[in-house]
Amino acid sequence: MSEIEKILKKYYGYDKFRKDQDKIINSILDNKDCFAIMPTGAGKSICYQIPALMLDGITLVVSPLISLMKDQVDSLNALGINAAYINSSISINEVNKRIDDCISGNYKLLYVAPERINTEYFLSKVKDLNISMVAVDEAHCVSQWGHDFRESYRYIYPFIESLEKRPILTAFTATATEEVRLDVIKLLKLKNPDIYVTGFDRNNLNFKVLRGVNRKDYIMKYIKDNKDSSGIIYAATRKEVDSLWTILNAKGFSVEKYHAGLGIEERKLAQEKFLYDESKIIVATNAFGMGIDKSNVRYVIHNNMPKNIEAYYQEAGRAGRDGGKSECLLLFAPQDVVLQKFLINQNDVSIERKKEEYRKLQFMVDYCHITGCLRQYILKYFGEENVEDSCGNCGNCNSELELKDITIEAQKIFSCIYRMKERFGVGTVAEVLRASKNKKVLDMKFDELSTYGIMKEYKLQEIKDMINMLIAEEYLNLSGDEFPVVKLKNISIAVLRGEEKVIQKVEKRKAKKVKDDNLFEALRVVRMNIAKKENVPPYIIFSDVTLKEMTEYFPGNKEEMLNIKGVGEVKYSKYGEEFMNAIKDYQGKNQNGEIEVS
Ligand code: ADP
Ligand code: ZN
Repeated sequence: MSEIEKILKKYYGYDKFRKDQDKIINSILDNKDCFAIMPTGAGKSICYQIPALMLDGITLVVSPLISLMKDQVDSLNALGINAAYINSSISINEVNKRIDDCISGNYKLLYVAPERINTEYFLSKVKDLNISMVAVDEAHCVSQWGHDFRESYRYIYPFIESLEKRPILTAFTATATEEVRLDVIKLLKLKNPDIYVTGFDRNNLNFKVLRGVNRKDYIMKYIKDNKDSSGIIYAATRKEVDSLWTILNAKGFSVEKYHAGLGIEERKLAQEKFLYDESKIIVATNAFGMGIDKSNVRYVIHNNMPKNIEAYYQEAGRAGRDGGKSECLLLFAPQDVVLQKFLINQNDVSIERKKEEYRKLQFMVDYCHITGCLRQYILKYFGEENVEDSCGNCGNCNSELELKDITIEAQKIFSCIYRMKERFGVGTVAEVLRASKNKKVLDMKFDELSTYGIMKEYKLQEIKDMINMLIAEEYLNLSGDEFPVVKLKNISIAVLRGEEKVIQKVEKRKAKKVKDDNLFEALRVVRMNIAKKENVPPYIIFSDVTLKEMTEYFPGNKEEMLNIKGVGEVKYSKYGEEFMNAIKDYQGKNQNGEIEVS
């Protein structure tokens, strides 16, 4: 076992490094600047925490959010690693004390908010610190191209420059379009950095898109079936958040709400109740999430389609950070497209930027209509190469699909588009096919076309869905921005000529079974009690994945306990006993037949 593997096992209780973690750590230990792009939940923190433990002096971690900082420091202290943080939430006396403690060598890691490092005071104090590394978390915040630009991130480089000895500089992010990537390297002046792009796949997440369901009913049923799990429900507007919350709350679910229209205190309280597992569910707009480190979110439901794949993947990616199986559901309805276009149009930005946003929106719309692998679609969008055609773990790969030949329908649609001279959008084409008497249709004399009403047996929405699917599957082109027009492609002509077939996959739905797990429940109670005593969120004690492993292996002694993923020496000595007792209790009762396990 290498030195770094020993540390991983001893402190964190993990046996193996995840992809790239060991390489990044070794780069840092070789004194190299590093830039790591890893998806949420891939385990960025360990990449700088382990070197921090091994390097001589102290590591400063620049982190953007106060809540995140406290969380990370609590987690480290729970592992037996000495760390502290300073930000605006603590008094000047306390800041002084913590920095002095750093100078005396009491801490290996100091988390600082970026706006701190610009102050004269901080600069004068850190002169006496032996800073071996500066790790910049959420490094994309330095770039204006990113979606979370923060002015204060621009202080980081001048700060590094002002230090007598240049520390190793490392940067971490989950978001990285090419533009942002180059910007981070340039603005932080990373010196000939080792760059690691771990890939975007999150194989524990199951993606699924549902079209045309009654969203409220669906959500209600889903959370009932998953009542013991934590989940986030994203909705597009404050109004929708309020209305969903009201319904769920009235039904007696433990649910919080979060959006920018609520007061700071109210938001903070909602967030904390969710983090501490006091409420299982939070309904929120996209204002919620940045810096939410809660590791045991088991599902993220999008009540509405977001504005682009980047935003979707980031929000959905808040599920399953602990590596446990989790679901990401998107409930699509056509109104979502209208709303997103309205929002883009309302934005006070250049025409160029709007065009770009319409383009990105279309990728999102396509995601909601493809019948192929959803994971493959996302990974390809992020420029990943050599992606498998079928992941076997998404709604489209999993569902029992029926193949249906829709060549005739496609021919009807294509020929209608042709006769309408390729100058109209999805809605109007569908109306003509359905024989609508709408004014625009009649004014244009479309009722005189031979294709008028040739799909009368379908509902309007079904025809629109079919056209959208044909766009997503690249049988049709969509051009233009705010009011896009459907156009034929070479392949559509081939279909019209009868040279190509169009096969659609249609889903058969199956009901989900609820799993009963009494031991897991019992262990969660133990965890909750400890968490309350120590005033930290439960997942800081142990993650869901760790508890699940305990329910599989029934550890009964120290050695067995240390073999459980996520149990290191310090945590064992603090909590091992209590959890082993709960397991013994459970086994005892089961032998006596008190609990029935289904
Ligand atoms: P990120 O910052 O990349 O989103 P974190 O650093 O918060 O991810 O790690 C996510 C989760 O994965 C944490 O619960 C962490 O303890 C766990 N983790 C990290 N590395 C490993 C590993 N090598 N084996 C098992 N779990 C790990
Ligand atoms: Zn798939």
